[in-house]
Amino acid sequence: MKVAQFEDAQGFCVGVQLNRRWINYSDAEAAYTSITHRVVVEPTTTTLQLLEDGRFDPREFKVVLQFLQRHKLVEQYLISNEAVLKAPILRPPKIIALGLNYALHAKEGRLAVPKEPIIFAKPGSSVIGHDEPILLPRGLGRMDHEVELAVVIGRRATEVKKKDAPTYVAGYTVANDVTARDVQSKDIENKHPWFRSKSFDTFTPLGPWIVTADEVDSPVHLTLECRVNGRVRQKANTRDLVFDIPTLIEFISKNITLEPGDIISTGTPQGIGPIKHGDTVVCRIEKVGELRNPVRNR
Ligand code: MG
Repeated sequence: MKVAQFEDAQGFCVGVQLNRRWINYSDAEAAYTSITHRVVVEPTTTTLQLLEDGRFDPREFKVVLQFLQRHKLVEQYLISNEAVLKAPILRPPKIIALGLNYALHAKEGRLAVPKEPIIFAKPGSSVIGHDEPILLPRGLGRMDHEVELAVVIGRRATEVKKKDAPTYVAGYTVANDVTARDVQSKDIENKHPWFRSKSFDTFTPLGPWIVTADEVDSPVHLTLECRVNGRVRQKANTRDLVFDIPTLIEFISKNITLEPGDIISTGTPQGIGPIKHGDTVVCRIEKVGELRNPVRNR
């Protein structure tokens, strides 16, 4: 199932897709609970809250949608056309990204394929959604696109073993790990952390929605690509990840607890390249979706 975050004049709501139409799941779930359990509940208006409450569950989504269909209420709970699609998680508690996790990408940077995962953080404040502009700071040199498969963590994960890792995944979304490349190179040269080059406002487009984990077979082998102004820049498959998703969850959770709503951005393949004012970047992942962002100077 596809799960998204929307905003309209009334505020935020969670959308769940039914036959290609978006249902206001926040209101629908509250109505379902009120009627079936005879208690009045406030709608849960963000995907992060559903994740934190342990209610981000395709089986629960189906129960509510079937209730709407049975009582002919679908039309009443459609999300209005004025609602704007936002990032599927507005402010992930943690975004852990991977460096050099495709061998051919390491090669294009003339770097060795790492022996253990290289992880770094991006702040939640850098997240934007589908169709929101990537804003490029002026005077800081080259800025690059990086398409990546993003894993959404569904429950608290500490010292997870590889074989159990899939049960901690709520779903998948598309990330663009936008990078101020010249800033990054300079910081690496000076032996400084490269945090800032990855963390500028708008530098983590995420979305357009989350596809629930039950829709993607394990091992996760998905084609991903990035197009700029219609031209393919990156094209690869997640089967070529140096460290696969279970390995990453085991590695990270050994000493860093992963929490619901955390994102692991699994790294970008070969073909990185610069973006400039006026470009349109489209990152697409098979079975997940297509994330489009215009590029503007700030
Ligand atoms: Mg990256």
